[in-house]
Parts: sequence; C-alpha cells; structure tokens
Amino acid sequence: MIVTRIAYSQNITASKLAALEEIASRLGRLRTEVWDKYGSLQGVRTNHRAVRDSWLVSKRQFDVPARLWKETLRDVFADIELYRAAAIAKAKAAVYRRTSDEETRIKLWSSLQNGTWINDSYLRRVMRKHFKHGHTQVKNQIILDSQCYKWFKHGGKCWIKVTSLIPRQRIAIPLNTTYPIKGTIRLLLRNGRVEVHYTVEPSKCGCNTSPCGQAIIGIDKGYTEAFVDSDGEAHGEGLGDLLTAESDYLKVKYQHRQKIEAIAKKSNKSKRHRIKLNNLGRNKLERRRIKHTAKVKTKIYQGTHSVLDKAKEIVCEDLAVPIKAKKNRGKDTNRRLSGWVKGLMADALEQVSPRRGASVVLVNAAYTSQACSCCGSLGDRQGDAFYCTECRVVLHADMNAARNVLARLNDPEISRWTTYQKVKSILLERQRRRLSLCSQDSSCTGQPVSTESESPSSLPNNA
Ligand SMILES: [Zn+2]
Repeated sequence: MIVTRIAYSQNITASKLAALEEIASRLGRLRTEVWDKYGSLQGVRTNHRAVRDSWLVSKRQFDVPARLWKETLRDVFADIELYRAAAIAKAKAAVYRRTSDEETRIKLWSSLQNGTWINDSYLRRVMRKHFKHGHTQVKNQIILDSQCYKWFKHGGKCWIKVTSLIPRQRIAIPLNTTYPIKGTIRLLLRNGRVEVHYTVEPSKCGCNTSPCGQAIIGIDKGYTEAFVDSDGEAHGEGLGDLLTAESDYLKVKYQHRQKIEAIAKKSNKSKRHRIKLNNLGRNKLERRRIKHTAKVKTKIYQGTHSVLDKAKEIVCEDLAVPIKAKKNRGKDTNRRLSGWVKGLMADALEQVSPRRGASVVLVNAAYTSQACSCCGSLGDRQGDAFYCTECRVVLHADMNAARNVLARLNDPEISRWTTYQKVKSILLERQRRRLSLCSQDSSCTGQPVSTESESPSSLPNNA
C-alpha cells in the first residue's frame, strides 16, 4: 500500500516551464493517439508491451526521448484499464438483472473479468453500452521513471533534475519539500508551476497507520458532517459549513463576473481585451479552488480516520453511483451538493481502510434513507429528521440510513445488485406481512417495534 504526495516547484523560471510544457504537449499528442486507437475494443486484445514492441520493430520515430514515450504509453494503458474496469462493474450489474441463475451469472461474470467477453455477442452488447470509446485532451503531464530524473540537495533546498528534449541537458526544478523523491513520478504543469506527484510508504511519511477499531458499523454520507455511523456518531464535523460557505461565495463571485462580462461584451475591442486581462482572470480563483479542495480533503480524511478508529468492518453504500434525486431540492441546495465530494469520500475510504487493516463492504443503497430502521416501513425525510408514519418514531435521518445500510449486510433478499424497484417491492411486502401479523395480534396496533430488535439480520419480517 502506497500513498501519493505532491511536491510543488518554487520560483521556477519561465524558460524552464516553457521547455517542460513543450515536452508535455508532445506527449499529449501521443496520449490522444493511444486513447483514440486503444480506448475501445482494440485495447482489450493487446497491452502496452505489445504495442511498444511493435512500434520498436517498425522503427517508429518520436519527437521525445524513448523513455518518456514508453512511460506515457504504459500510463495511458493503465488509465484505459481502469476505465474498462469501471465499465465491467456496470456490466456485471446488468448481467445480474438479466439472469437469476447463479451458474450462468458466474460464467458470464468470469468471462467479463478475464476478457473473453469479446467473443460473446450478449456481453459485447452490454459492454458496448457501458464501455464507450474514450478520448483525452490531457496535454500537461509527464511521466518519469527513476532513470529520467535525479533528486538532490543544493543550497539548503531540494531539487529534481529531469530529462529535457536536448540530450545530456536536464532541467532543474527547485522544490518546496525536503522529502526524498523516489520511483516513478508524474509531473503536472498547472497554474504556472510544476506539481510533482510521487509515492511514499505510509509508515515513512507520518501517515496514521495505527490499527483500526473492532466494531462492525454502517455509515451514511452526510452533508453537515462527512459520515454518520449506525450508532448515531458523526465523523468529520464541519464539512457542510465549509462547502456551504465556499459555494455561496462563488455564487456571488460569479454573479459579479457576469456583470463585468456583460460590460466587456458591449465594449470596443481594446477595452474588452483590457477587461479580460485585468478583471476576468482565473489565477486567483484557481488558487482559491486548490486551497478549498485541500481543506475539504482534510476534513473528509479526518472523518474517515475517525470512522476507522472505531470499526474494522465498514458497511456503506456504493458512493460512486450517482443518485437521481426524486424531488428537486432547490437551486441553492443542488449547487452546494455538487458531486465531487462524494467521490472524495469514496476515495478516502478506499485508500485509508487497507492501510489501517479494515475492510469496506458495499451494499445496495436503494431506500436506505427512506425506510424506517425500527420497523422497516417507508417514512418521510424532512431535513435532518426522519419521521416514520407507521411506528411514529423520529430519528436522525443520516443515522437511520446508516442503520439500514448495516442491516443490508446480512439481508438474505437484497443484494448489492438488486434493482431499486425490486427493493421497494420487497420492503412493501415485508411491511404488509408485518401489518397482517399485527392485526392478528390485538395487543399490537402498529406501535413501535422495540429498537432492541435491530441486529443486522432482524428486519421486520423476522422481528
Ligand atoms: Zn417505523
């Protein structure tokens, strides 16, 4: 398990930056070409070694040093593979919905996994739907293996010297960190500086690698706080304030920019140019964005570590899947809830849990926030509170969802891939059975089922 860290260049000269940008742009063309050619079925039948060898045999000429294009080729193939893996996960869900026969499912799934799906007409059809041809316009990255750069100390600062387009002449980049950089690195040219993405071992960089807790908990992602667990405890508090403040700031900022843009549109050419140059730049906004992202990241990682201090097994919904909201939450809320934070949460959980010896189990998320965790009936969510119309309890909405998520872990009927329509019919059927049991027993008139019966396996039908 390794962690990626970023070092930034300090006061790099314009000429050095221009030289690096030229390399990155040439490699960008190669990236585009490889994605265009191998970003679909072509890429399934081959790998980066085979392509590299065929290019070497055909004596293809490149305008960059050989090591650089080889590393870029490898990197692009790794990206394509990740993209394909995401499509395969979606195709697996489709296979699950199509057939209920366990043996056929396993056969089709393994075919998806080992790449033989291209010989199966049904799987090809499914994959064509989820595995659209990918393209890229990335032109600001350089991948360097350990032979292409040298890390050294000079004048109390740390530097790296990287391969340039001129043989035996390297470009020295002053860095803002003293951590020794090793292994394959990625240079990213952004906002007039160089980001050096390098990997470190968690135990050597001050990462929290202490062993995780012992509990098994369900968690739900929140907005006010990053996570709420099934015991009602919040982790990563203050996240919502951070997101709201930034989102509201940007709203006003862009409203003002709109006004200036309108003026620029009406002005003559030279004034328009002046306004664009002096009033509508992106540098400050970009710096602010980076700072904000870092703050949010910190909050989410703190929350994740706090969850892991408690649990060895974390049950959560698949955060990567976008959720279509039934009711329109309103312009302001929708703006604040923009999706990227959920992606960060998923990443944080995925990265930190193996480092601390915990595991994450993904379960079906359908109706976890709309069902009552006490009785299983479908209830009503209003803001932070959940109201059960059946047993009349009022619960913290996120805790209620987290409890439902935990219950899904051992649910015999609802698996991760069950469709939301099926989940709803299962939940309604349970509710119906429970009510008919209640009406037979005159002592029960739809009163709360005791909350003690909330062990994961005891959903209403067996309560
Ligand atoms: Zn209830």
